[in-house]
Amino acid sequence: MKSITGKNFFLFGVISMLIILITLDCLRKDHFNEDYTPMFFKNTGEWVSFENAFSQSQNTLSSHFTMFTSNYLMEHKVYSNFSPKKLPPHSFDKHLRNKGFETKAICGVSFLANLLGNQIGEKDKKFDFEGNSIYRKCLRKLSKERRSAEDVFKEGIRFLSKSKSRDIFLWLHLFDAHMPYFSPKKFKNFEIVKSEKSVKEQIDEKGWFSPYFKEYEKKLELTYFPNCYKSAVSYIDYEMDNFFMFLKNKNIFDETLIFVTADHGECLLGDHYIYCAHKKLFDDTINVPFFVKFPQKIFSGEKVFEIVEHLDIAPTVISRIGLEEERLRGEDLFKLLHGKGKKREFSFSEHVDNFMQSVRDDKYIYSEVVENVPNKWGIKMEEGKLFTRDGTEVKDKNIEDTMKVKMDELIKEIQSSSKKEEDSLESDKKIEEQLKSLGYL
Ligand SMILES: [Zn+2]
Repeated sequence: MKSITGKNFFLFGVISMLIILITLDCLRKDHFNEDYTPMFFKNTGEWVSFENAFSQSQNTLSSHFTMFTSNYLMEHKVYSNFSPKKLPPHSFDKHLRNKGFETKAICGVSFLANLLGNQIGEKDKKFDFEGNSIYRKCLRKLSKERRSAEDVFKEGIRFLSKSKSRDIFLWLHLFDAHMPYFSPKKFKNFEIVKSEKSVKEQIDEKGWFSPYFKEYEKKLELTYFPNCYKSAVSYIDYEMDNFFMFLKNKNIFDETLIFVTADHGECLLGDHYIYCAHKKLFDDTINVPFFVKFPQKIFSGEKVFEIVEHLDIAPTVISRIGLEEERLRGEDLFKLLHGKGKKREFSFSEHVDNFMQSVRDDKYIYSEVVENVPNKWGIKMEEGKLFTRDGTEVKDKNIEDTMKVKMDELIKEIQSSSKKEEDSLESDKKIEEQLKSLGYL
């Protein structure tokens, strides 16, 4: 049998356990449904759908660090896309490798491959940069430093076909729904309307956009980029469906544990004064699609309304290999489905560069700017701090105070346990130094 890469597949028979994490950059929950991603939804009965799932950040690297470590930003301290940081010993990829898994990441953008993907598995040759200037360079060259959804899945299949390992973890990251939104022409089924002013000039009058993209110079209607976003979402849906078909044809789909989620969402046409970017902590950026396919169709087709978070991915993976890890904050989703997990009252999220923090429950969002942190983007901010989940401001002092107290208590607890962890690491270091000085190590 020939693969789409033109090679023969003989090795799939040896796979014993396969775990796949698919992260869809910028894919907001209200654009992942029957209308926007129909290919996925025609088979939605194969998945468990978590309807109230939240990311811990609106920032790419920060969110992915949370998925792998099951820690809040306050704990792993990755507050930007320019934070070179090693994954800690408790990250789930390390536990998998310790158990003999081969782990591999295929990222859709260079900075993520360099800062995180290359820690998960073999170095990504497509994005092989060295030197300190890489981070700015990556942003400037963003459009050239991308890998399309088609290529991400092709690489994934190539890796699966080549691997001789019995147990495999594969992380596939799709960047197509990130500005400047990418899809092949055949997915762009909308009319392109010209404008007298450039997109940049039009947004300048209304709200905030990321100044890095030269595409904003185009003289087009403001709806052009949101339409491109929708096309990118259709394209992702099409490629992801092909990938699942491939796994099904190889008879490895049913036994595989698969997560599909987004690292964060996206503000499109001026949501909260933001255009085609992911800023602030409203549901457009924090409420994410979250689907899990457990092996043997367990719980397939169920819709879950409990609050779940990216924190829960690592504990679910780790329990699949029969381990427990106390440094993980999240809950095992498998336990939650069995009614044994701890139910969350609210979810906590933080903004890039430690600018904002928020909590939300099933009805409300409390969101505040962190004291003394400047609004370096000059984003127009809302006056209040309490909102309904659709972003409408609410004036209710009692609810606002209750949510603020919940958030402050959680922050206090996170800071106190982080301090204990740092003290314990410090003490381990001291013991190691003493043993070395005595010639034991
Ligand atoms: Zn992202």
